[in-house]
Amino acid sequence: MKDLNAVEVIEVSKSFGTFDALSSVSFDIRENEFFTMLGPSGCGKTTLLRMMAGFETPDRGSLRLHGRNIVDIPPHKRRVNTVFQSYALFPHMTLEQNVAFGLENLGWDRARIKARVGEILDRVHMGQFATRKPAQLSGGQRQRVALARALAPEPEVLLLDEPLSALDLKLRQAMRDELRSLQRDTGITFVFVTHDQEEALDMSDRIAVLGGGKVQQIGTPTEIYEEPVNRFVADFVGETNFLDVEVLEAADHRATVRTPFGRVIEIPAPVDVGKGDATLSIRPEKLSLGDQVEGIDFTAEVLQKHYLGGYTHYVLEANGTQLRASRRNASREGDTIAVGSTVHVGFVEHSARVLSS
Ligand code: ATP
Repeated sequence: MKDLNAVEVIEVSKSFGTFDALSSVSFDIRENEFFTMLGPSGCGKTTLLRMMAGFETPDRGSLRLHGRNIVDIPPHKRRVNTVFQSYALFPHMTLEQNVAFGLENLGWDRARIKARVGEILDRVHMGQFATRKPAQLSGGQRQRVALARALAPEPEVLLLDEPLSALDLKLRQAMRDELRSLQRDTGITFVFVTHDQEEALDMSDRIAVLGGGKVQQIGTPTEIYEEPVNRFVADFVGETNFLDVEVLEAADHRATVRTPFGRVIEIPAPVDVGKGDATLSIRPEKLSLGDQVEGIDFTAEVLQKHYLGGYTHYVLEANGTQLRASRRNASREGDTIAVGSTVHVGFVEHSARVLSS
């Protein structure tokens, strides 16, 4: 039998009044995948998640769950569960009652419920608090219980709507590891919504970057970061320098480009780049500084320097164009570059990208 996708989003559009929240969006989520929908506020990611859950209906297009069209199936009949940012636990119930509640509604027998509740609370390290009420827990603990409750009925797909955004920074990091290992252990497809690019890069098998109600790019974290297809993705995921360039020739994913430093270089490009004005993206950490630099090189003046412990960030100016560069401080003595000095700057050609706008 052919492997089915866990979720298929097929040409989905949705408007609220005159505002187009989603415009003909299509993508597949593979079975057993940690899939993230990443984008700025208002890009339509929550609307898509709510459609998968059944709380929202597309104006056009369809959604399939394991090959079956689910648009007309009510939320409780889909084998999909959601974890919300706000936990949404019942305050008057104990943790075990909270987790058991959904299983009772599904008609599971008592013994099976008891076994499953114990097992899943243990799995999220909350077994010893089973008889407490949510008010007696920290935010992180509540989120673990919300996860246990959503996972208890063994859904085919778990939807996670910014589940970490109410937690403090340290806890958020710990919960990232926890979520990733929960996904691997249970084999359940996770669909995660966030506006936090670092969270998305850290946890996901694949990421869909959404912007303006459209899919801007889908790929692995490395593909998204290293090979952004357009300016939106390069700007939203990570930091980058944008340079105005002129494309002289473009073919076979390569472009010949005139740079602001007066040099003509040949670098990778997406398929739809044509001749004429374009943007070149180069990440700050891809620029090397010093006496001996590799690849394409030019000189620049150091305008600013920001020492941040593990890294130093520099603001440079080359031929009237400002650039940011970042260097890891491998040793205490490593940094001899002074503000006001002229440095050699270099980058290897495959670390830069010409972007379609
Ligand atoms: P956020 O992170 O802020 O929740 P989002 O990317 O998840 O953003 P959505 O919640 O999907 O975005 O909303 C997409 C757009 O549609 C937003 O501009 C939002 O204001 C609008 N929208 C969503 N739901 C409704 C609704 N029920 N009525 C009117 N407008 C809505």
